[in-house]
Amino acid sequence: MDTQAVRARLLRRREELQSRASNASADLRHESDPLSADFAEQVTQRESDEVLGAINESARDELRQIQAALRRLDAGCYTACVVCGEPIEEGRLAAVPYTDRCRKCADGERRGPRRA
Ligand SMILES: [Zn+2]
Repeated sequence: MDTQAVRARLLRRREELQSRASNASADLRHESDPLSADFAEQVTQRESDEVLGAINESARDELRQIQAALRRLDAGCYTACVVCGEPIEEGRLAAVPYTDRCRKCADGERRGPRRA
């Protein structure tokens, strides 16, 4: 496991998300695009606000997970599943570098009644 490469990848992704989130919130404040007096256009703008809100929320979620993954990298337990303690599959980490659980535990959670 090349932790340097993983860290670089997580940091890059974090930057990308942070700039996307700040662009989105700038749009939400309509800094460069005040709400139009035209009603139809207002409706369209409101709909796109909801989309931006959703992007923000999922970006925030991912950011939290990336922060946690960086902390696990520092602590040296990045590849250990937080649920069962077994090593997380390398292919899974390559696909989802901020995951904190192995495929088995992630699958069990999806089937279970609760979400993490
Ligand atoms: Zn597990």
